[in-house]
Amino acid sequence: MQRRVLRCSLFVVLCFALVLLYGCNQNDYKNDEAKDSPINKTGVKDQEDTNTTKTQLHFNMDIENEKVDVVADYLRADINSSVFLLNRDFTVTEILADGVPIDIKEATKTILLLDSYEIKQYDLPVFENNIRIIYNGSLNGSSGLTSYATEQITPEFSFLRWETFCHPLFAKIETFEDLVAAITTPYNLSIIVSLPVDYTAIFTHSNVQDHSTENGITFSADGELAYGEIAIAVAQYTTIETESGIFSFLRTTNANDALSLANEVISHTHEYMNKHFGERVLENKLRVVEIPVDLGSFAITHKHITFVESNIFNSVTNMTGLVHEFIHIGWNAKTEDFFVQRSRFFDEAFTSYFEYRVMIDILGNDVAPELLKRFENTYGIDLVPIRDFGRYEYGDLSYTIGALFLHELSELVGIDNFDSVTTTFLEKYQYTAVDFDLFNKYYTEMLMHPDVEEFLFKWIG
Ligand SMILES: [Zn+2]
Repeated sequence: MQRRVLRCSLFVVLCFALVLLYGCNQNDYKNDEAKDSPINKTGVKDQEDTNTTKTQLHFNMDIENEKVDVVADYLRADINSSVFLLNRDFTVTEILADGVPIDIKEATKTILLLDSYEIKQYDLPVFENNIRIIYNGSLNGSSGLTSYATEQITPEFSFLRWETFCHPLFAKIETFEDLVAAITTPYNLSIIVSLPVDYTAIFTHSNVQDHSTENGITFSADGELAYGEIAIAVAQYTTIETESGIFSFLRTTNANDALSLANEVISHTHEYMNKHFGERVLENKLRVVEIPVDLGSFAITHKHITFVESNIFNSVTNMTGLVHEFIHIGWNAKTEDFFVQRSRFFDEAFTSYFEYRVMIDILGNDVAPELLKRFENTYGIDLVPIRDFGRYEYGDLSYTIGALFLHELSELVGIDNFDSVTTTFLEKYQYTAVDFDLFNKYYTEMLMHPDVEEFLFKWIG
């Protein structure tokens, strides 16, 4: 197959760059003690703790007034930039450098991303030890970086996501690559969310030390939190844990129906995957968080958490996204090399292909042609070999072309042969990093089919 260099829009690249960012949260947090929040009505903390000793964001959810008051504390050591970026609709009320008020409350520049998305850039004053930025604002669904990154603060549901630049991003952003670097660099950050009584905050990160204090709910990520992993859902959630997952529902009616359908689909998926691609006893359960329709389902898959629009619970067919996220938990090979990971082949191509197999098993063979069509829809762009997807940031093609390749390989060598070799491959490379050379070698040797080598060269390169 002749492959030519493809062109991807920044938007498409971004959509999938964001899917890179993953997280699993085993907990959600009931806040019964938010009444003693140290943030007063103007969002200003008591003066005695201005000399912060750690980098910490404190979101005070003023849900009644549909806004958020934020105190952002950063240590000098955690900042590597002379500017910071913030949501264009937020108002900075105070900046303290080493505890001393500084007269910078207006943005000095407007940055444009993806052609027209505006973010405000502020200059950072000189400081030695720490800086505190106090700001507030409302989120009305219009200030997300992309159209699918919707956010809001309302009594029914509130959502804080990094795509709205709801916390300062200390980086100079001139290109898309700058943005990816800024949002994927892990650092030390604690997050406190103060909530009204009876509200719950669900956060994406797994490695959190949760505790309810008089300050609210604290999530500490111990140096492992990347800015792009920040997503906090706030509502009066009901959380139910079952054998197959931890489900947080917004709905007050039909929760049992939704739960039993989701349980059934996840159990079926587990059984099918165990049978065909290796048995897994999963350490982490899938975390499923219901969000309102139109807010845009997404997952931070390496943390095994997915935020799904309500209508995913309406039918088995709608649950394909849950099937996908569940498969990620147990049946992906490990990668270490940056470009191999960015190709998204060993996670997304395999997962999309497995998702296809599971959905056929659930819905019947009749749906196979329709499901396959999704793989053949390749945005109408030309291709590079799969091995180069990462280098060109074309990892999004693994969802379609990568999955199609695995499907065609299975047709070539016979599905039982394919399943059996894939099972041992995933077992071998579940904890040991794989790359494309190892993949080609393993499948060539193990499939023992005369046309495989050429076939792999044609697709993988
Ligand atoms: Zn995925």
